[in-house]
Amino acid sequence: MGKIWANSGDSHLVEPRDLWQQALPADLAARMPRSEFDLDAGTETIHVDGQTFTRRIPRAFGMRDSEGNGMAGRAMRGNDPELRLADLDGEGIWAELIFPSIGFWMSSIHDPDLLAAGSRAINDWAIELQRRSPRFVCTATIPLLTVETAVAEVERAAALGYHAVYLSVLPPREESWTHDLWAPLWAAIESAGLVCAFHIGTEPHDAAGFHGNYYRGPGGAILNYMETTFGGQRAVAMLIAAGVFDRHPDLRVMVSEGGATWGPFIADRLDEAYRQHASAVRPTLRRLPSEYLYEHVYASFQHDRSAPAAMWAMGWRNVLWGSDYPHLEGTYGHSQKTLHELFDDVDAPTRDRILVGAFAELFPHVPAPPPSEW
Ligand code: MN
Repeated sequence: MGKIWANSGDSHLVEPRDLWQQALPADLAARMPRSEFDLDAGTETIHVDGQTFTRRIPRAFGMRDSEGNGMAGRAMRGNDPELRLADLDGEGIWAELIFPSIGFWMSSIHDPDLLAAGSRAINDWAIELQRRSPRFVCTATIPLLTVETAVAEVERAAALGYHAVYLSVLPPREESWTHDLWAPLWAAIESAGLVCAFHIGTEPHDAAGFHGNYYRGPGGAILNYMETTFGGQRAVAMLIAAGVFDRHPDLRVMVSEGGATWGPFIADRLDEAYRQHASAVRPTLRRLPSEYLYEHVYASFQHDRSAPAAMWAMGWRNVLWGSDYPHLEGTYGHSQKTLHELFDDVDAPTRDRILVGAFAELFPHVPAPPPSEW
């Protein structure tokens, strides 16, 4: 089998355990997200600003690294730039769009000042990783409890050299992404030329309109995993339905880890709603909902066998592959096998667009990968 090189539209930071202590006053650092593993019970407990959340962990997390951290050893390689690049070379992954990991839990913070300070801290740290290689494209975390702090951090992130911002799929407040109050945020992201990147499974635990991943008992793990994919679709539908792309025609949105065939599917559903319920639809849009989706929205998948067909069979060109490195849902250790299984029988224009071209369109500053050997 020849070596395939692919860009990843979905990868993750491994934040150092002392990130907050290094960057923030002790009283603020103590309120930022931290996780504790109970390997005997098979659980991880997240502490964030006085709240605790406990979840089951996959058995592989039971591997301890040399410092005794209850995390798979490979994950710890992810926060060393040189070891990370070595992993990427081995996997055939060229450039990566990199999201937080423990930082996702910041969406459950309720104090705007704490969230803004924490966002500055993680963004100041992540930009140093990005500066180590043009293959690292980090996302800046945006504090969403007030639109003022959000806009300020978008502008600060752009000045630091970020090319993308990460937003949770629902905001941590009553007003959803359809609300006019977010207009300055979309304008700031658009005018800075940043990609607006959502990652699935990032709903604040108490977000309005979020019904949670609360299945228990038989089938629960699979049902909860399925539920997590929906948030990205909902975020995209909210922006389209609210007319955000009419007012911000240069805004580009990425949805990572949520698969790809949902794009054409919800494009059809949104068009049907727009057409068949026209008397109830507001705001009126300049174009059909599907046109915004096909042009402004990008999505990444990792193992989904049907996903390449979203492009070659359904005509959505904005599909990206993603490794989810170094997370357990990802392809680490079997990226080449997965890529061959997914793409060996796919036409060259489709595979080149999904593995390289769509990412390069979003991040044209990233150098091209070595040629793949098909
Ligand atoms: Mn991911």
